[in-house]
Amino acid sequence: MICEVIVDIAHSDVDKIFDYACDLPVEAGTRVVVPFGRSTATGFVMRVKETSDLPAAKLKKIYRAEEDLPALNAECLALAWRLAARYHVPMALVLRLFLPAEMRTGKVRETYRTYARFFKEVPIKNAPQQAACLAFLEENGEADAAALRKRYGAALNALVKKGAIVLEKRRVLRDPYRGVEGEHTARVLTPAQQAAVERIQATQKTVALLHGVTGSGKTEIYLTLIAAALARGQSAIFLVPEISLTPQMLSQLRARFGKAAAIMHSGLSAGERFDEWQRLREGTAKIAIGARSAVFAPVENVGIIVIDEEHDGSYLSESSPRYDTFDVALERARYNGCKLVLGSATPSVETYRRAQAGEFELIALPDRINARPLPDVKIVDMRREVRRGNPSPFSTLLRERLSDCLKEGQQAILFLNRRGYAQTVMCRDCGYIAKCSQCDVALTYHSEENCLKCHYCGARYKMLTACPECGGTHVYYTGTGTQRVVGELKRLYPAARILRMDNDTTSGKEGHYRILKQFAAREADILVGTQMVAKGHDFPLVTLVGILDADMSLHFPDYRSNERTFQLVTQVAGRSGRGKEKGDVVLQTYDPENAILRFAAAYDYEGFYRHEIALRAAAMFPPFSKIVRVMVTAEEDAAALEALRGVYGRLQKVYDEARGEFLFFQRMHAPIKRIQGRYRYQVLMRLTSDRLLERIYDEACAVFYKNALVYVEEDPSNLS
Ligand code: ADP
Ligand code: ZN
Repeated sequence: MICEVIVDIAHSDVDKIFDYACDLPVEAGTRVVVPFGRSTATGFVMRVKETSDLPAAKLKKIYRAEEDLPALNAECLALAWRLAARYHVPMALVLRLFLPAEMRTGKVRETYRTYARFFKEVPIKNAPQQAACLAFLEENGEADAAALRKRYGAALNALVKKGAIVLEKRRVLRDPYRGVEGEHTARVLTPAQQAAVERIQATQKTVALLHGVTGSGKTEIYLTLIAAALARGQSAIFLVPEISLTPQMLSQLRARFGKAAAIMHSGLSAGERFDEWQRLREGTAKIAIGARSAVFAPVENVGIIVIDEEHDGSYLSESSPRYDTFDVALERARYNGCKLVLGSATPSVETYRRAQAGEFELIALPDRINARPLPDVKIVDMRREVRRGNPSPFSTLLRERLSDCLKEGQQAILFLNRRGYAQTVMCRDCGYIAKCSQCDVALTYHSEENCLKCHYCGARYKMLTACPECGGTHVYYTGTGTQRVVGELKRLYPAARILRMDNDTTSGKEGHYRILKQFAAREADILVGTQMVAKGHDFPLVTLVGILDADMSLHFPDYRSNERTFQLVTQVAGRSGRGKEKGDVVLQTYDPENAILRFAAAYDYEGFYRHEIALRAAAMFPPFSKIVRVMVTAEEDAAALEALRGVYGRLQKVYDEARGEFLFFQRMHAPIKRIQGRYRYQVLMRLTSDRLLERIYDEACAVFYKNALVYVEEDPSNLS
């Protein structure tokens, strides 16, 4: 038998099939150890065949298989081929997506435990320990051998020798949910939920978009669909942004599905992650739940795939291969002939456009469960606060509302847009934002050169000393930090208990879980945080949400900044008034007339969408064009430049052949010239369609540079 093997070395030189002879019973998808060059390597069997084109004498032999059950099933193998072709990356890199990292490094293994089992009665004389041990086992059937040894010492081995008991080594799975308990409140679906479930099950379309306002009960719909798949004997994949895998969510899933659910999240240890993966691969667990990477779960016969909060930026991978989770999920849905459900209160513009065009089944849930009202959003003009001499990050209205909220024993969330800080330059007197005259995208301040830059065309502008609109001199390029907000709060409300949640406070294994748990347990009155507080948390006691600087993300140097702002405001506002009491939202801005904020305050997604899609069409930004960036990075500036020259030269051929399809084509320094010691250059392109995408990948990746890294990004969410 001959095996076609891809070695697990991510290098384009060895990115090809090698034939090996094999006399072991291995199947495609198995990891094997093979002789490679002068040493050994791990590889993946891609195909098993009868004959090779190589003479038998030249064929080397596979040493051994790493596991009995192939790591990749047939579907995953087929998917890997398509992904390698789609993203032009070495197959080894793609294959790695399908297994837990710990498995490759060999650092985790299955854990085994030895059990002692009662076998038969034997006569025991003058050995009280042996007698006691045997009596214990006779009563209990079996017990952990190590524990018995501790209690009865040498008696255990003596009993084994006498044939009274037998030892048995068995595999044990680490249980990552110790301490996670939840009760299963069986819910009757509302008529709207029931109708949504039925439409998703009945539609001929593969993809359904569930557009439901925050608190409309989308989760219950997903869980019903998953339970239905399980009842048909199928499995399921449930994807959520990492940040939404909150303790509440985990216990809800655990209560509902018990051990049928395998939950992968960053809080797990390497061993736990490995075991959860194993349970899915063996089929003892049927539901793969996790962030982006769970889309590669080793489940078979998939009956439903759900992507919750489909608009979330975390579904785009930022390391090679730079895949879009939706694309992978769609491939899997097609392979399995199952439905792919996307859910969001604020679908991405791209997704909504496809749904409206009839490509996806569009299902709207316009009301909250039990007709609970959506919170009132009050827009506060912060320019007036500045003019009135209020320099604090809190408006008068927000302060009043906070006092009331605390007095009534309710909880509040204050949201700050850290992402928006990206050194955008704003006039605090009139709200003016410095923008690129060519791209209508906010400029970014670069301190090392003391200038403003456009990340879309590379144009440079002088730093402003006064506002060109009103002449004011309160021109700032930083916002308020969470730390400062907490400091102010402590001064204003000395009795209030305050929690802070941002990148600085959520590191470590427990990370944001700990903070969310504390807040849910009412151990704090106010939660101050960045984007992380915006995601799908359900805290029934929160009746006030304050958005401190709504504009910040509006002017992030990104064509998606309107969309992101609308999503953020809607999501944060949605945290308020989820319990019995009605909720309030105070939205502070320097730009109170801004259309996007107005749409968000009115919960008018349709209005927002029409406004935004018209802007995108006029400016020819995605989805009306495709932005492609080819990045070249290297530790040596010269090496980066040399690679850039080569890449640019080859891309220029494409450009020259099809100029009409390029809206923009230029090579330049990346906006941030050096990151982690690597010099960065880019060829930035805007194309009228993705027709040339394949060619661009081909040319960009045609040559391998020893000292430089070249990669392609499509519609990147970060152009720094
Ligand atoms: P979404 O995901 O759309 O924001 P959730 O799924 O969090 O909404 O549901 C909002 C609230 O309504 C939650 O507290 C949930 O427990 C509750 N809920 C959902 N479905 C039902 C139902 N059929 N009956 C009663 N309560 C429900
Ligand atoms: Zn520009």
